[in-house]
Amino acid sequence: MTGGKAAREDQAGMNETMKLLAVYQAEQKLRGLQSRLGAAERFLSEQERQLGAIDQQTSSLESQLRQIQASTKENEDEMARIDERMTKLREEMNVARTNKEYQAFLVEVNALKIERGRVEEEVLKLIEQADAIKTEIDQSASTKDERVKVRDVAQQDRDTRHSEIKDRVKELETERDQLASAVNPKTLSELQRLLSERDEDAMAGVEIIDKRRHEISCASCMMTLPVELLSRLLSGTLTNCSNCGCFLYLDEDASAALQPTGSKR
Ligand SMILES: [Zn+2]
Repeated sequence: MTGGKAAREDQAGMNETMKLLAVYQAEQKLRGLQSRLGAAERFLSEQERQLGAIDQQTSSLESQLRQIQASTKENEDEMARIDERMTKLREEMNVARTNKEYQAFLVEVNALKIERGRVEEEVLKLIEQADAIKTEIDQSASTKDERVKVRDVAQQDRDTRHSEIKDRVKELETERDQLASAVNPKTLSELQRLLSERDEDAMAGVEIIDKRRHEISCASCMMTLPVELLSRLLSGTLTNCSNCGCFLYLDEDASAALQPTGSKR
């Protein structure tokens, strides 16, 4: 087929599909680049999140420790007051005038000894608790050190990937926008919708099941396509898969293989 209105229309139609395919391919390249950056970014933010959780845990442990230390101080002060009182009582016992007076002091001293023992036990318990929390704080600190190292590597990796693809992304964006400017806006927005719903399956090639009988299928959903779609595809008219809805295209080999036998001879 050469020249003529029909041929020009065919070519215009073919261009439309090929133009759209070019936009789609540029978009795929962009998405491929950005998805690798996206993975690095997700990994980095996961590390930041874990670091935040460790900091939160550490500050809660530190506030528990402060409370325990305050209670320890209170109990130690109480012990000091008891000791002071006992010293005073013993002095008074030494100068007691009667046995009755002496016995009264002794009763009080004995009661104070019991009280002192109780407070001392409490102090020991608190010190033990404080030690356990200090150990946990130390563990938290070393977990944090490890996590910081992982985070730093993740950050470096993200930054490296970002700078690696930055220029290429800008280039591809310009290229894609340029290619897109040649395509009907309605068709473009349809492609955008398919890309957001189906990603790489927004466009698909055609697979030949039976060349002689012109049986073809969609490379995305694998469903056999109605034979009337073939002539649209061969003419380059924008065609969607009747099953999954993606834009279909014929690559050169498929196109050559499927040309009606008459036109090849
Ligand atoms: Zn399909």
